[in-house]
Amino acid sequence: MLQDKETFLTRRHVCGARLKPLVTDLPFRVSETTIVILKDLPVLQCDNCAEYFLEDPVMGRVEEILDKVDSAAELEIIRYAA
Ligand SMILES: [Zn+2]
Repeated sequence: MLQDKETFLTRRHVCGARLKPLVTDLPFRVSETTIVILKDLPVLQCDNCAEYFLEDPVMGRVEEILDKVDSAAELEIIRYAA
């Protein structure tokens, strides 16, 4: 389930169902050619729409990590550390 960076960072949860916390690896498309896989990322997943969301502090950290990615690389795997 590849996440588009811009879409993901601005997405809001709208269906109102319960979010359950879990830790997962999540791939992000950060540019036309670059994909970043964040490992051990703490996310919230909706029971209803199955979408992933992040808590605000995690969101900020993810944005920081993705902004620093070398856009010349096609694939980068980064372990999330709070
Ligand atoms: Zn939902």
